[in-house]
Amino acid sequence: TLEGKRALVTGSTSGIGLAIAQRLADAGASVMINGFGDPQEIEAIRADLEQRSGAKAIYSDADLTDVAAIDKMVGDCTSEIGSPHILVNNAGMQHVAPVADFPVDKWDKIIALNLSAVFHTTRLVLPAMRHKGFGRVINTASAHSLVASPNKSAYVAAKHGVAGFTKTVALETAEDGITINCISPGYVWTPLVEKQIPDTMKARGLTREEVMNDVLLKAQPTKRFVTVEEVAACAFFLASDEAASITGANISMDGGWTAQ
Ligand code: NAD
Repeated sequence: TLEGKRALVTGSTSGIGLAIAQRLADAGASVMINGFGDPQEIEAIRADLEQRSGAKAIYSDADLTDVAAIDKMVGDCTSEIGSPHILVNNAGMQHVAPVADFPVDKWDKIIALNLSAVFHTTRLVLPAMRHKGFGRVINTASAHSLVASPNKSAYVAAKHGVAGFTKTVALETAEDGITINCISPGYVWTPLVEKQIPDTMKARGLTREEVMNDVLLKAQPTKRFVTVEEVAACAFFLASDEAASITGANISMDGGWTAQ
């Protein structure tokens, strides 16, 4: 159970982050969700989380490419539900283009969201975690934190960065009751994956079916997409007391992709 625990889950209005927020709430945690989307849908998600947990659920619309907004999000979380015991750095975006044509503004945004935001949230929550003598930082990295695919230079660079950041902070917090780990999924069926199909079709001159079977699932020996519930179950375990000795790890959930 996570009763009495408070979790901040970034990028949790959709996909993997939403499933993680729901899994933590099911275990009784109070949750702050974050991300973009339709205000009515987000309010329905928030209210549902309170039903699941029997504890408070709140929402931050912070754009995590903006350092001041991250600062405000962590401050609001602390003043409204209390400083988080569990931080899930999940927000992320993708852009698919060959490096010579990669839009410079997309590069900057992906590095800001997928890498720098992980640094900012972590540095802001650590002092209170140290004070409590308990903390769990869980980063949604990717199989692309371990291996590359063409046309994803910013994403692969950022995710490799997250894996390195995770190891470093694990060493710095090892004696403080704090763990920090990455979960590295292969392809999970979420809006993020669905949205990159048209660009991959364009970049490689393929049909939708060819992109799904010959590009995405080609790398995944199980030939099936990872589910958001599987990732959420792993995050829940990492948040538990029993996972106290797992720190600095990069846990693959990729259907065998990086075993090749
Ligand atoms: P998604 O697009 O469904 O969800 C992304 C979430 O991040 C949404 O809530 C969105 O509103 C939020 N977000 C986007 N930009 C933001 C910003 N600037 N500030 C704050 N929030 C923002 O994507 P997903 O597939 O669930 O991806 C979640 C994480 O999992 C990402 O870090 C992604 O890189 C990683 N991942 C996904 C897959 C996959 O196959 N889907 C595989 C490996 C890793």
